Amino acid sequence: MSYVLRHNLTGVALQDLLTLFNAHFPGLVPATTYLFHKAYGQFGQYKPHFYCINCETYIGPSETAPQNCSSCNTEFDIENSLKLGSYFLVLSLSAQIVDILEKPDIHLNTKESTPGILSDIQCGAEYQKFKQTGQMGDDDISILWNCDGIPVFKSNNVQIWPIQCQIVELSPRVQQGNICIPCLWLGNSKPNMATFLTAFVAQLKELEQVGIKSFNKSRDYNGKCK
Ligand SMILES: [Zn+2]
Repeated sequence: MSYVLRHNLTGVALQDLLTLFNAHFPGLVPATTYLFHKAYGQFGQYKPHFYCINCETYIGPSETAPQNCSSCNTEFDIENSLKLGSYFLVLSLSAQIVDILEKPDIHLNTKESTPGILSDIQCGAEYQKFKQTGQMGDDDISILWNCDGIPVFKSNNVQIWPIQCQIVELSPRVQQGNICIPCLWLGNSKPNMATFLTAFVAQLKELEQVGIKSFNKSRDYNGKCK
Protein backbone atom coordinates (compact mmCIF):
# COMPACT_ATOMS: atom_id res chain seq x y z
CA MET A 1 0.00 0.00 0.00
CA SER A 2 0.97 3.65 0.29
CA TYR A 3 3.12 2.92 3.30
CA VAL A 4 5.28 0.49 1.32
CA LEU A 5 5.77 3.01 -1.48
CA ARG A 6 6.35 5.98 0.77
CA HIS A 7 8.98 4.33 2.93
CA ASN A 8 10.60 2.11 0.28
CA LEU A 9 10.16 -0.91 2.51
CA THR A 10 12.42 -3.90 1.95
CA GLY A 11 10.86 -7.34 1.78
CA VAL A 12 11.96 -8.09 5.34
CA ALA A 13 10.56 -4.81 6.69
CA LEU A 14 7.29 -5.41 4.86
CA GLN A 15 7.08 -8.91 6.31
CA ASP A 16 7.63 -7.45 9.81
CA LEU A 17 4.91 -4.89 9.20
CA LEU A 18 2.46 -7.56 8.01
CA THR A 19 3.24 -9.69 11.06
CA LEU A 20 2.59 -6.69 13.30
CA PHE A 21 -0.68 -5.92 11.53
CA ASN A 22 -1.87 -9.49 11.77
CA ALA A 23 -1.14 -9.48 15.49
CA HIS A 24 -3.35 -6.39 15.96
CA PHE A 25 -5.96 -7.03 13.26
CA PRO A 26 -6.15 -10.76 12.45
CA GLY A 27 -7.09 -11.37 8.85
CA LEU A 28 -7.08 -7.72 7.80
CA VAL A 29 -4.00 -7.93 5.59
CA PRO A 30 -2.43 -10.89 3.81
CA ALA A 31 0.05 -12.60 6.09
CA THR A 32 2.97 -12.87 3.68
CA THR A 33 4.68 -10.45 1.33
CA TYR A 34 3.75 -12.67 -1.62
CA LEU A 35 0.06 -12.58 -0.75
CA PHE A 36 0.31 -8.85 0.00
CA HIS A 37 1.65 -7.98 -3.43
CA LYS A 38 -0.88 -10.28 -5.03
CA ALA A 39 -3.81 -8.73 -3.16
CA TYR A 40 -2.87 -5.07 -3.38
CA GLY A 41 -2.06 -2.88 -6.30
CA GLN A 42 -0.88 0.55 -5.27
CA PHE A 43 -3.45 0.99 -2.50
CA GLY A 44 -5.55 -2.15 -2.66
CA GLN A 45 -9.21 -1.33 -2.14
CA TYR A 46 -8.29 1.70 -0.05
CA LYS A 47 -8.56 5.07 -1.73
CA PRO A 48 -6.28 8.02 -0.96
CA HIS A 49 -7.97 11.13 0.47
CA PHE A 50 -5.66 14.11 0.20
CA TYR A 51 -4.94 17.00 2.50
CA CYS A 52 -3.15 20.27 1.85
CA ILE A 53 0.65 19.96 1.78
CA ASN A 54 0.90 23.38 3.43
CA CYS A 55 -1.81 23.56 6.14
CA GLU A 56 -3.24 19.97 6.25
CA THR A 57 -6.80 21.09 5.46
CA TYR A 58 -8.88 18.20 4.11
CA ILE A 59 -9.04 18.14 0.31
CA GLY A 60 -10.70 14.78 -0.39
CA PRO A 61 -10.36 12.10 -3.06
CA SER A 62 -8.78 13.14 -6.38
CA GLU A 63 -12.05 13.15 -8.36
CA THR A 64 -13.64 15.82 -6.14
CA ALA A 65 -10.48 17.71 -5.18
CA PRO A 66 -10.53 21.48 -5.77
CA GLN A 67 -7.69 23.14 -7.65
CA ASN A 68 -6.63 25.06 -4.58
CA CYS A 69 -6.79 24.56 -0.82
CA SER A 70 -9.89 26.24 0.63
CA SER A 71 -7.92 27.54 3.63
CA CYS A 72 -4.54 28.73 2.33
CA ASN A 73 -5.07 28.66 -1.45
CA THR A 74 -2.05 26.39 -2.07
CA GLU A 75 -2.43 24.68 -5.43
CA PHE A 76 -3.39 20.99 -5.22
CA ASP A 77 -1.07 18.77 -7.27
CA ILE A 78 -1.92 15.07 -7.05
CA GLU A 79 1.55 13.83 -8.06
CA ASN A 80 3.28 16.05 -5.53
CA SER A 81 0.80 15.12 -2.80
CA LEU A 82 1.39 11.41 -3.47
CA LYS A 83 5.15 11.93 -3.41
CA LEU A 84 5.02 13.85 -0.13
CA GLY A 85 2.56 11.40 1.42
CA SER A 86 -0.01 14.14 1.99
CA TYR A 87 -2.95 11.77 2.17
CA PHE A 88 -4.57 9.06 4.25
CA LEU A 89 -6.44 5.94 3.14
CA VAL A 90 -10.20 5.37 3.17
CA LEU A 91 -12.22 2.21 2.58
CA SER A 92 -16.03 2.18 2.57
CA LEU A 93 -17.32 1.39 6.07
CA SER A 94 -20.73 0.34 4.77
CA ALA A 95 -19.11 -2.17 2.38
CA GLN A 96 -17.07 -3.60 5.24
CA ILE A 97 -20.19 -3.90 7.44
CA VAL A 98 -22.12 -5.62 4.64
CA ASP A 99 -19.22 -8.07 4.16
CA ILE A 100 -19.39 -8.96 7.84
CA LEU A 101 -23.19 -9.27 8.02
CA GLU A 102 -23.23 -11.54 4.97
CA LYS A 103 -20.83 -14.06 6.43
CA PRO A 104 -22.76 -17.29 6.95
CA ASP A 105 -21.90 -17.66 10.63
CA ILE A 106 -22.76 -14.10 11.66
CA HIS A 107 -25.84 -13.40 13.78
CA LEU A 108 -26.89 -10.13 15.32
CA ASN A 109 -27.62 -10.32 19.03
CA THR A 110 -30.89 -8.95 20.32
CA LYS A 111 -29.97 -9.06 23.93
CA GLU A 112 -32.56 -8.52 26.65
CA SER A 113 -31.05 -6.77 29.63
CA THR A 114 -31.26 -8.31 33.08
CA PRO A 115 -31.71 -5.67 35.79
CA GLY A 116 -28.52 -5.24 37.79
CA ILE A 117 -26.28 -7.14 35.36
CA LEU A 118 -24.14 -5.15 32.96
CA SER A 119 -22.30 -7.47 30.58
CA ASP A 120 -21.82 -5.18 27.56
CA ILE A 121 -22.98 -1.96 25.90
CA GLN A 122 -26.36 -3.43 24.95
CA CYS A 123 -27.22 -3.73 28.65
CA GLY A 124 -26.43 -0.06 29.31
CA ALA A 125 -29.14 2.45 30.19
CA GLU A 126 -28.47 4.72 27.18
CA TYR A 127 -28.61 1.82 24.74
CA GLN A 128 -31.83 0.55 26.28
CA LYS A 129 -33.32 4.04 26.06
CA PHE A 130 -32.60 4.15 22.31
CA LYS A 131 -34.37 0.82 21.95
CA GLN A 132 -37.38 1.68 24.10
CA THR A 133 -38.00 5.06 22.46
CA GLY A 134 -37.83 3.50 19.01
CA GLN A 135 -34.78 5.57 17.98
CA MET A 136 -33.13 2.22 17.30
CA GLY A 137 -35.24 -0.28 15.39
CA ASP A 138 -34.74 -4.04 15.17
CA ASP A 139 -32.76 -3.67 11.94
CA ASP A 140 -30.50 -0.89 13.20
CA ILE A 141 -26.98 -1.46 14.41
CA SER A 142 -24.57 0.64 16.41
CA ILE A 143 -20.84 1.13 16.04
CA LEU A 144 -18.16 1.45 18.68
CA TRP A 145 -15.06 3.19 17.33
CA ASN A 146 -11.65 4.31 18.49
CA CYS A 147 -8.44 5.65 17.05
CA ASP A 148 -5.02 4.96 18.53
CA GLY A 149 -1.51 5.06 17.13
CA ILE A 150 0.63 1.97 16.66
CA PRO A 151 4.40 2.53 16.40
CA VAL A 152 5.68 0.47 13.49
CA PHE A 153 9.38 0.23 14.16
CA LYS A 154 11.40 1.10 17.26
CA SER A 155 14.08 2.79 15.18
CA ASN A 156 11.93 5.62 13.82
CA ASN A 157 8.77 7.59 14.52
CA VAL A 158 6.59 6.00 11.88
CA GLN A 159 3.10 5.37 13.19
CA ILE A 160 -0.06 3.83 11.87
CA TRP A 161 -3.33 5.32 13.11
CA PRO A 162 -6.31 3.17 12.13
CA ILE A 163 -9.89 4.14 12.94
CA GLN A 164 -11.29 0.86 14.23
CA CYS A 165 -15.02 0.11 14.32
CA GLN A 166 -16.82 -2.77 15.97
CA ILE A 167 -20.47 -3.71 15.55
CA VAL A 168 -21.98 -3.64 19.03
CA GLU A 169 -24.73 -6.12 18.17
CA LEU A 170 -22.23 -8.92 17.52
CA SER A 171 -21.14 -11.08 20.44
CA PRO A 172 -17.85 -9.85 21.97
CA ARG A 173 -15.92 -12.85 20.62
CA VAL A 174 -17.21 -12.28 17.08
CA GLN A 175 -16.55 -8.53 17.33
CA GLN A 176 -12.84 -9.14 17.86
CA GLY A 177 -12.51 -11.04 14.60
CA ASN A 178 -14.61 -8.57 12.59
CA ILE A 179 -13.09 -5.15 13.05
CA CYS A 180 -13.69 -2.59 10.31
CA ILE A 181 -10.95 -0.10 9.45
CA PRO A 182 -12.53 2.65 7.33
CA CYS A 183 -9.63 5.12 7.63
CA LEU A 184 -5.89 4.62 7.97
CA TRP A 185 -3.34 7.36 8.67
CA LEU A 186 0.34 6.60 8.12
CA GLY A 187 3.07 9.02 8.98
CA ASN A 188 5.80 10.37 11.20
CA SER A 189 3.39 12.26 13.44
CA LYS A 190 -0.07 12.02 14.94
CA PRO A 191 -2.92 12.65 12.53
CA ASN A 192 -4.49 16.06 12.18
CA MET A 193 -7.78 14.88 13.69
CA ALA A 194 -9.97 17.58 12.13
CA THR A 195 -8.71 16.45 8.71
CA PHE A 196 -8.61 12.72 9.42
CA LEU A 197 -12.11 12.55 10.92
CA THR A 198 -13.73 14.52 8.06
CA ALA A 199 -13.84 11.46 5.81
CA PHE A 200 -14.99 9.20 8.67
CA VAL A 201 -17.81 11.52 9.76
CA ALA A 202 -19.02 11.73 6.15
CA GLN A 203 -19.25 7.93 6.09
CA LEU A 204 -21.13 7.83 9.41
CA LYS A 205 -23.63 10.42 8.17
CA GLU A 206 -24.30 8.37 5.07
CA LEU A 207 -24.74 5.22 7.15
CA GLU A 208 -27.22 6.97 9.42
CA GLN A 209 -29.22 8.58 6.63
CA VAL A 210 -29.04 6.02 3.79
CA GLY A 211 -28.28 2.84 5.74
CA ILE A 212 -27.15 -0.47 4.30
CA LYS A 213 -28.79 -3.48 2.73
CA SER A 214 -27.44 -6.95 3.20
CA PHE A 215 -28.81 -10.39 2.62
CA ASN A 216 -27.84 -12.99 5.14
CA LYS A 217 -28.98 -16.59 4.87
CA SER A 218 -30.83 -16.33 8.16
CA ARG A 219 -32.60 -13.02 7.49
CA ASP A 220 -32.66 -10.03 5.20
CA TYR A 221 -31.22 -6.98 6.80
CA ASN A 222 -32.11 -3.42 5.91
CA GLY A 223 -30.87 -1.18 8.63
CA LYS A 224 -29.22 2.07 9.52
CA CYS A 225 -26.33 2.85 11.73
CA LYS A 226 -26.95 4.73 14.98
ZN1 LIG B 1 -3.86 24.71 2.79
